[in-house]
Amino acid sequence: MKLKQLGAIFSGALLTASLVACGGAQNANSGSTSTDSSDAASKTFVIASDNGFAPFEIPQADGSITGIDMEIFDAIAKDQGFNYEMQNVGFKMAVSSLESGQVDGVIAGMSITPERQEKYDFSDPYYDSTVCCAVKADSDVKSLDDLKGKNVALKDGTLSMDWANSIKDQYGFQASVFDDSPTMYTEVGGNSVACFEDTPVMAYAIKQYADTNGKEGINFKIIDEVKADSPYASQYGFAVRKGENSELLKMFNEGLKNIKANGTYDKIVDSYLK
Ligand code: GLN
Repeated sequence: MKLKQLGAIFSGALLTASLVACGGAQNANSGSTSTDSSDAASKTFVIASDNGFAPFEIPQADGSITGIDMEIFDAIAKDQGFNYEMQNVGFKMAVSSLESGQVDGVIAGMSITPERQEKYDFSDPYYDSTVCCAVKADSDVKSLDDLKGKNVALKDGTLSMDWANSIKDQYGFQASVFDDSPTMYTEVGGNSVACFEDTPVMAYAIKQYADTNGKEGINFKIIDEVKADSPYASQYGFAVRKGENSELLKMFNEGLKNIKANGTYDKIVDSYLK
């Protein structure tokens, strides 16, 4: 994964010149970010995202990333006529790159939370989510009560990790933390009996396993999920640093409205979830 990313960054540097001209292209890289909102049309916004969070970020065999976030962002950029470069660096890295000013925005199935709203401005929400706990399909673990004395796997910097940490003492489990979802899944059944994840992402992997007769996806089952009124239920939004890139945020919201009105949004989501 590391080598591939490095390759993408090097080839991205070569691609930058052509990207500026063609607009709405993906998977390139440049050194600086755009915070001056005076002429957004001539800028190339640098956007960071996750690298494995299907169906929002789906790694492909050739190293590229597809998925709902990638297609929605691209459709919005085309609708609004702005240029961007997408860096699929992983969730925690995406958020820290935004915080440190290395990128202009993050789209990564990122939950809008009150804590994050202190640091970031979020777009209008574009997807509803909750968090869940999942185990291997043949696991004896049937409920959170069965986690007592066991180890679970968590994804660093996520809302599902926050939920797990908030109930850890109550249910008496320990936790190991991983950088990305795919690695976290491989721990389950090994060093961990369960993992915590966003429900739409876990549900997608489970359905994919059934649909492909076990060729893709994962053979897990969800044993618990927070209710829609829980503080760990959330909506996904596109984030920029607080008070910066307000023009980009405005374009995102305008574009989102337009692609919802013209059917593009539903077409993208349905292509992954039906
Ligand atoms: N929605 C979760 C969060 O924002 C997880 C996002 C992700 O893993 N890409 O914390």
